[in-house]
Amino acid sequence: MVNEGKLSLENQQKLDKLQEELASARDTFLGYPVSKDFDYSELNKFFQYPINNLGDPFEQGTYRVRTHEMEREVIAFFAKLFRANPKDFWGYVTNGGSESNLYGLYIARELFPKAMVYYSESTHYSVRKNIHLLNIPSIVIKSQENGEMDYEDFENTVRMNRHKPVIVLATFGTTMKEAKDDIGKIKSILHNLAIQDHYIHCDAALAGSFGPFMQPRLPFDFMDGADSISISGHKFIGSPIPTGVLMAKRSNRDRIAKGISYIGSFDTTITGSRNGHSPLFLWYALKQLGVEGLQQRYQHSLAIAEYCEAELQKIGVNAWRNPNAITVVLPKTPQSIKDKWQLATEGNISHVICMPNVTKTQIDEFVNDLKNCTEQIIEEEFSYDFSLS
Ligand SMILES: *Cc1c(COP(=O)(O)O)cnc(C)c1O
Repeated sequence: MVNEGKLSLENQQKLDKLQEELASARDTFLGYPVSKDFDYSELNKFFQYPINNLGDPFEQGTYRVRTHEMEREVIAFFAKLFRANPKDFWGYVTNGGSESNLYGLYIARELFPKAMVYYSESTHYSVRKNIHLLNIPSIVIKSQENGEMDYEDFENTVRMNRHKPVIVLATFGTTMKEAKDDIGKIKSILHNLAIQDHYIHCDAALAGSFGPFMQPRLPFDFMDGADSISISGHKFIGSPIPTGVLMAKRSNRDRIAKGISYIGSFDTTITGSRNGHSPLFLWYALKQLGVEGLQQRYQHSLAIAEYCEAELQKIGVNAWRNPNAITVVLPKTPQSIKDKWQLATEGNISHVICMPNVTKTQIDEFVNDLKNCTEQIIEEEFSYDFSLS
C-alpha cells in the first residue's frame, strides 16, 4: 500500500487551511456560474475504484471499471430535454463546455472541410482556441448591445462568402450578459441565402440546462435546428469536478468514427482516458431532480434574479437582464466589492449570476455593501508588472 504512512502534522495543517479557504471562498461568490448546493456524499464509496470511461459510451470495450451505463442515461436525459430525434442522437460526458464545443466544431469540420465558421464577438474565449486548434477559417460577427448576435451583420457577412459551407457557433447564454443567439433567425437567414451546406453548433454551457423551461421559449435545441449542443455540468447542475455534455446526431458521429483495437472499441471521443466519476455525479443529480427539479431550480434562480435587479435599481444602480436570464448585468463595481463577491468584470460591466444556491439574504447583503461603499472606482492605468503574485 503506497499511502500507509501518515501525513506530517505540518502537511495536515496545510490541508485544514486549504479546506477553510475553499469553504470561505465558496460562500461569498456571486460572479461565477457555478452551483454549490450539491451533496454527492452517497457516492463517496466510488472513490475507491479506478473508474475510467475510455472509448465511446455506446460501444462495448474491454475495460470494465467504468460508468458507461450511467453516462448513456445522462445522454438520453438530455436527448429528450433538447428534443433530439429519438433515432438519431449521440453524445458523451466531457471535461466541460469547452471540450464539448471543440467536439461540435470537430464534427462540423469533418462534414464540411471547406467551411467558414461564424461566431459573434460575445462568444466564450475558449471557442477561439478551439477554432485555432482545428484550423478552420473564421469570421467574427458583431454583437448587439445586449450581447446577442447582430443578425444583419451575420446575413451580410455570409452573403459575401456564400460560395463556402457555413458553420455557425451560436451561443445560448453568453458569458457576460447571458444573451441568447436565436437559432430560428439564423436558420431562416441561411435559408434565404440558399446556403445548403451548413452546420449549427449551439454553445449552451450555462443556459442549456434551463432553456427548455423558458417562457416564452427561445429557439436553441435540435428541433429548432441545432446540429449539436454543449452544456457544462458543473454550472447549473453542479459538480465537484468540472464536467460537461456534448449532444450530437448519431448519423454525424458515425461519419467520423474509427475503430481502435487496443481498447476494443470505437474511439470517437477527444481524450483517451475519460473521467468516469463525473457521469456518475450527473446521473445522480438528474435522477434526484428529474425534469421537474431542474425546472424548480430555474424558477428559483429567475425569482432571485428579478429580485436582485429590482433591489439594485432601488438604490440607483443601473441594473438590467436579458429576457429569461438569471444573470443581472450592472456597471463595474468598486474593487472591494468585486473582491469580496468575486465578480467577473469586462470593460465597464460586471454581473451577478443568480445560481440556484443564491438566496435573497445574500442579495440583500450584496446590495447593502454596494449602497454603503464609499470607495471610488479607479480607472485602470497601463502598468507593466512582471511579478507572478
Ligand atoms: C462556461 C462557458 C464555456 C466553457 O465551459 P467550461 O465548462 O468552463 O469548459 C463555454 N461557453 C460558455 C457560453 C460558457 O458560459
